[in-house]
Amino acid sequence: MWTASSSEASSPTVNPFDARELETLAEASTDDVDRAVTAARTAFDSGPWPRTPSVERGRTLWRVADLLQRDRELIARSESLDTGKTLKEGQADVDDVTAVFRYYAGLAGTDAGRVVDAGLPDVVSRIVHEPVGVCALITPWNYPLLQMSWKLAPALAAGNTVVLKPSELTPLTTVALVELAEEAAVPPGVVNLLLGRGDTVGRAMVAHPGVDLISFTGGLATGQEIMAAAAEGVRRVTLELGGKNPNVVFDDADFDTAVDYALTAAFLHSGQVCSAGSRLIVAGEIHDRFVTELAARADRIRLGNGLDPATECGPLVSAEHRVKVEAHIERALAEGARLLAGGMRPPEPSLAKGFFLRPTVLADCTRDMAVVREEVFGPVLTVERFESEQEAIRLANDTDYGLAGAVWTTDAGRAERVAGALRHGTVWINDFHSYLPQAEWGGFGKSGVGRELGPSGLAEYQEQKHIYHNIAPTPMRWFSG
Ligand code: NAD
Repeated sequence: MWTASSSEASSPTVNPFDARELETLAEASTDDVDRAVTAARTAFDSGPWPRTPSVERGRTLWRVADLLQRDRELIARSESLDTGKTLKEGQADVDDVTAVFRYYAGLAGTDAGRVVDAGLPDVVSRIVHEPVGVCALITPWNYPLLQMSWKLAPALAAGNTVVLKPSELTPLTTVALVELAEEAAVPPGVVNLLLGRGDTVGRAMVAHPGVDLISFTGGLATGQEIMAAAAEGVRRVTLELGGKNPNVVFDDADFDTAVDYALTAAFLHSGQVCSAGSRLIVAGEIHDRFVTELAARADRIRLGNGLDPATECGPLVSAEHRVKVEAHIERALAEGARLLAGGMRPPEPSLAKGFFLRPTVLADCTRDMAVVREEVFGPVLTVERFESEQEAIRLANDTDYGLAGAVWTTDAGRAERVAGALRHGTVWINDFHSYLPQAEWGGFGKSGVGRELGPSGLAEYQEQKHIYHNIAPTPMRWFSG
């Protein structure tokens, strides 16, 4: 059931390509947060969903996946308009999340807990999995559909009810996803959507005593605040936060392929990717040739409207975000970085209304520079050089974050040694950005707490209950009375 906001508040969502208003959406009030959590609580305590056989829940998720494919073009277009990403990326996102829904649809039906060998003849011991309860799901603006699906699919597979809030900047595909869940016959009260800002609606969700679990993807500062708020009620929390991800290239790597992937690692979706390979760490022997080729190719990246098939890279999400990214570049140059490409807004008049920034390559970067330490979340690639394997590992691990990293080499032994030594949640060998629904995703260090995807992504939304059955009870005679 869709209801209006109890307040009159509304806010527009704009297309970052030309700042044109796309839609005006209602903003929830704190009263609406309370209504949504109460609806989720009632559906959890007395509705059918948590008591539905998990195989049946899996079938419902499978229907959501089918509907996503039915509406693939529509949703991809919406995502492109709202975020500025290319239509091709939007389509890939829909295909990826379809696979995520299908993965959890399958897992739901096979997740029967486990029998424990008690080592006692008269005891049957088993672990059963139960839903946690009401889950608050909060997501950022860079991958709105994808991030919400990584949470919604396992949360529903496990039998929870949810209250979800997308970023106020990019709400459109989350609205579409909730409509599909409704069409797929997820029962009323199970999925409750709230639209609005983080400092109002998000905060009220996190503070609400009726919420049992908070799953958040977004920035580090927000994650810290949410973790502190979750401590108040001793609630479960999963955090997927930022990254400052190293891309380590050895001199024996396939040169052209490594340059090609370094560009995609850094500039896909204008670098607004939590796992963006924003730190290139390259062997001294090939450094000059590598960065020259990289900068030349970065200069050729075609910026434009995400809906135009010729576009390779869209704009940044907002005017405010572009100003932050530009400030990072300015500071880096003041700290001694050398500009090899970009560093400016594109000169084409056709792009003037959008929030564009040219792909930027900064050489001569060192560990003490803010641009190397802080997440920029824009099309800015820093380059550091190394002279030995040990130095490459030390540089790659010298970060507060630990989300993802890559190593490029044709020496299999070195590839395994370096991958083993990197303190990051995902390590690619001769690849970048790929992920699998069946493989865990998450961060070491300040990149987060907990895991999404894979079996652990389901476990985040489950309580583990131990049932200990004494099948031949006799008096213990512990006490004499
Ligand atoms: P953000 O932290 O500003 O906002 C994320 C979400 O939280 C939004 O829905 C926002 O409205 C809400 N929010 C903001 N303040 C809140 C508060 N006090 N209480 C509750 N909710 C609040 O992040 P962003 O700018 O939207 O996204 C960019 C960040 O997300 C980057 O740091 C990026 O690395 C991170 N990210 C991480 C992953 C990952 O998998 N680790 C994936 C994508 C994005």
